[in-house]
Amino acid sequence: MPFSRIPEAENAEGLLGDHGVSINTHKALRRLRRLVDSWPDGVLVCDFGSLCIYEWNSAARHLIDARGAAIKGSRLPQWFLSSDRRILQRRIRQELAEQGDTLRHNLTLHNDTPVEITLVPMRDTDATSLIVVLRDRRPYLDHLHKVKRKLAEAEEMISQDALTGLLNRFGFEQAIEEFMTEARHGTPFALMIADIDHFKDINDTHGHQWGDEALKVVASRLAEQLRDDDAVARYGGEEFCILMAIPDTRVVEIAERVRHAVSATPIGLADGSWLTLTISIGATYYQPALSAEAMFERADEALYEAKEYGRNRTVMLQPLPVTAADEEE
Ligand code: GH3
Ligand code: MG
Ligand code: MG
Repeated sequence: MPFSRIPEAENAEGLLGDHGVSINTHKALRRLRRLVDSWPDGVLVCDFGSLCIYEWNSAARHLIDARGAAIKGSRLPQWFLSSDRRILQRRIRQELAEQGDTLRHNLTLHNDTPVEITLVPMRDTDATSLIVVLRDRRPYLDHLHKVKRKLAEAEEMISQDALTGLLNRFGFEQAIEEFMTEARHGTPFALMIADIDHFKDINDTHGHQWGDEALKVVASRLAEQLRDDDAVARYGGEEFCILMAIPDTRVVEIAERVRHAVSATPIGLADGSWLTLTISIGATYYQPALSAEAMFERADEALYEAKEYGRNRTVMLQPLPVTAADEEE
């Protein structure tokens, strides 16, 4: 029976006689019932033993989406998803019956509404009832979803290079740690550092703005060469880092493919002239003894050699010899 429809005001005197204290108590009870009925959380009262519902408020009826006639006398668990019914019954039987404390749990109603359920046993002299409070979790979950989305957007923003849309240095540092973790689980990877040759001359000849355009074009040429699981970052200035989980035997071949992708297609400038850019690449391969920093230093060393040997080329250094100390680890 809905709380507010419980017999009240008109026949108060008939029920209670004209005893002043009783009337005041009755009025207070009526106010309380009105309050419960207009409460935004669903409130139900059932018999502790049978779990049959005998009182409910409007919010409870809306949440479980049923007519009063269907609710009256029905068993509480039937209004939950079948997978949740057993959890609810077990917790009531075991924890609530034994310890008698308030119980709180997140469950899903039969109509897929996620709710937080609070169960409070109420012992009267003759019987024990169970007060059930149902709180709609959808506003909370919507809010959580929005916060998570904002967080993901913010994370993307702080790890993205504004000019090229590639990862920035921070994004690269996160990515290489992820590749290191995968490598420790058996998927090694290559690190390539690609640096545009004589980029300063491009700025000096065509202006900084066209230098920026050239950086964007190189970034997209590099990105085009990669698969979804690879990572490419603008590490700084005109220097790019690429991470790829490939066999060590294929690193030079793939680095060369990337290098050609940049040099093979000149960039068209506004004045109608064409600019051919080249890159030098230093590559290195995962070794269990190398940290991410050591791997980076080694790729940088290889890049330095590529520049020294005349630029527009790839250099990959031999793996470092494994020391006795490494083997012991
Ligand atoms: P090398 O072949 O030895 O790599 O020569 P380089 O000229 O490419 O290298 P250097 O380090 O001497 O100069 C790099 C230039 O890149 C200098 C700097 O002005 C330019 N640069 C760095 N960041 C940007 C940028 O965001 N936009 C533009 N347009 N230029 C940049
Ligand atoms: Mg350069
Ligand atoms: Mg450089």
